[in-house]
Amino acid sequence: MSDIVDNSNVIVDMFTDAALKLARQDHFINRDGHCLFCDESIEPSQLFCNRDCRDDYEKVERLKRIQGK
Ligand SMILES: [Zn+2]
Repeated sequence: MSDIVDNSNVIVDMFTDAALKLARQDHFINRDGHCLFCDESIEPSQLFCNRDCRDDYEKVERLKRIQGK
């Protein structure tokens, strides 16, 4: 029984990772020199001002996808 749960978690992770990769590609196009999470001014070559913002952003995006938003 736990194998089924483990397998479904692996599949969910695969889809989430794929969705995040697609989202990142969008953001590469839309870079405007602001952190994607807190809107702080940053180098245009960066997406986030620090690792915490990146992690929090990914958590929020993951939750949105789970909730279908
Ligand atoms: Zn930030």
